[in-house]
Amino acid sequence: MRYTVGLTGGIGSGKSAVAERFAGKGIVIVDADVAAHRLTAPEGMAMGAICAAFGPSFTAADGSLDRVRMRAHVFANASERKRLEAILHPMIRSMCEAERSTAASPYVMLVVPLLFESTRHSTTRAKPRDATVQRTLVVACDQRVQIERVMRRSAMSEDEVKAIIAAQMSAAQRIALADDVIDNSGPAEALDQPVERLHRQYLEAAAQYR
Ligand code: ADP
Repeated sequence: MRYTVGLTGGIGSGKSAVAERFAGKGIVIVDADVAAHRLTAPEGMAMGAICAAFGPSFTAADGSLDRVRMRAHVFANASERKRLEAILHPMIRSMCEAERSTAASPYVMLVVPLLFESTRHSTTRAKPRDATVQRTLVVACDQRVQIERVMRRSAMSEDEVKAIIAAQMSAAQRIALADDVIDNSGPAEALDQPVERLHRQYLEAAAQYR
């Protein structure tokens, strides 16, 4: 399996913005959220199991997952969330693994919002033999800027965004676990230099990784 950098960060921190820049350098991006969307699209591979487990009321008219309804259902209910994750996570994982195994770039970037929360994604800190990622990169962002960007993107209220942030791992915890950190509090152009520096570093590490 190819040298893999795990990219993570809080909601709206700029994971996609950073990943796009690595993609611009020819790096294959494997995104767990994209896999989740595909699995729950109309005729998505997870829809049968979700309908069987939760009933038809979470399926939209076009056959896709009714995300708003499901989010509301699982947000305040940990056991229901676990039930959903038990269906989705193994599928997301195998989809991402398949994409990783066919990736034709010097290294791969695996974007996983819950990289550190998920026990499956053993990282370099633990150095197990079956580590799924060899290096971790966290996108960090000033919290005020983060809240503004999410509100602008999704029309959520400030309180709703704050509730999601509060339910996630804290930025400080994430940064403490990271091998590398990119600050995305500034304008997008400010990402160019750190991305270039890290890209060189990852190319070198990937060349030595066998
Ligand atoms: P994530 O993938 O972590 O949820 P995104 O990359 O989608 O975050 O960024 C969240 C929102 O903020 C998006 O609407 C994106 O266009 C915007 N955004 C990201 N980085 C910047 C930046 N440096 N300057 C201005 N807007 C940004």
